[in-house]
Amino acid sequence: MGGSDTAIFLQPQKRKYDYLQTMRLIPHPVLCNYYVTYRCNAKCGFCDIWEKPSPYADPGTVAINLRHLKKLGVKVIDFTGGEPLLHRQIDTLLGLAKEKGFLTTLTTNCLLYPKWAEKLKGKIDMLHFSLDSAYKSEHDRSRGVACFDFVMESIDIAGSLGERPDILFTVFEHNMDQIEAVYENICLPNDLVLILNPVFDYNSVNTGPSLSKESLDKLTHWGKKTGIYLNEAFIQLRKDGGNHVTHPVCKAGSSTIVISPENKLVLPCYHLGLREFNIDNDLENLYHSEEVRKLIALEGRLPECEGCTINCYMQPSFAVEMNRYWWKALPSTIKYNRIKGTWKNMLKT
Ligand code: SF4
Ligand code: SF4
Repeated sequence: MGGSDTAIFLQPQKRKYDYLQTMRLIPHPVLCNYYVTYRCNAKCGFCDIWEKPSPYADPGTVAINLRHLKKLGVKVIDFTGGEPLLHRQIDTLLGLAKEKGFLTTLTTNCLLYPKWAEKLKGKIDMLHFSLDSAYKSEHDRSRGVACFDFVMESIDIAGSLGERPDILFTVFEHNMDQIEAVYENICLPNDLVLILNPVFDYNSVNTGPSLSKESLDKLTHWGKKTGIYLNEAFIQLRKDGGNHVTHPVCKAGSSTIVISPENKLVLPCYHLGLREFNIDNDLENLYHSEEVRKLIALEGRLPECEGCTINCYMQPSFAVEMNRYWWKALPSTIKYNRIKGTWKNMLKT
């Protein structure tokens, strides 16, 4: 992008949407999306990350970065990938984060969870098992590998260890009708929270047709049920046409720090990945540097940001700024925290 184009995006915009009435509540980043590897042992049709060659994050470097993340005010570390359980020292990384008082979260396709379960016990505050269908053939087809049986085995093992995983259901038009069976047959009998995660488009990844208004309304209906978590702000954002560059709701760069397996700071978000900076053991100063601040100022304002609904960044964006999405997100946040006691853990940090 040329300098003059960039300047346009940095201009304060005339407030056509005054009803948004924003007020920044938390000025610092709250979340770190720590990509421990881009490798994955599944091949989901709606994801392209597994195609990337990738190293594994070095534990010594992770330890240094965690110190800096603490100073930057980050509260939650999402150890992500690729498949994070492919990292042979993922238990060590999680332990380091817990020692420093972070809340930890990890989402897995479960292929490796049975092997890791004992070592991960007590180290993950928000553990998510991905499951998009109540039927083995459909789930395995969507994930490109046979992982349904591993999800079921993982639910049993986690339960026996006293862990409380959630089921993370990525919602497409084609699997809307599976929500009921997953809820009734898998979540309720095992006392698991069902997280409904509306699919989002990015780059050239084909995720199929966007969720229709009827499907969005159905999701709102499901979100009111006991034991189901749906961030209603995700639904509102889709109904509003996603992020708009003229009055961005996205706060990707200022709410979330993205670290790559190569130990680079990625800005303004992983999915756009406009620039990467070597961290070189000094994340705190790098984050506050002039160059990085300029890129953060572009969050949600780049041409690719128009219509964006990427949940990974919208969730923290809704948390740091009070606007209509903050209010929409609030009931589901309270509901999830009531069930899981996450706030209690946060207060201990
Ligand atoms: S399991 Fe996750 S990281 Fe792996 S291909 Fe599927 S969506 Fe992508
Ligand atoms: S709007 Fe989307 S693409 Fe743009 S910075 Fe935010 S998350 Fe990234």
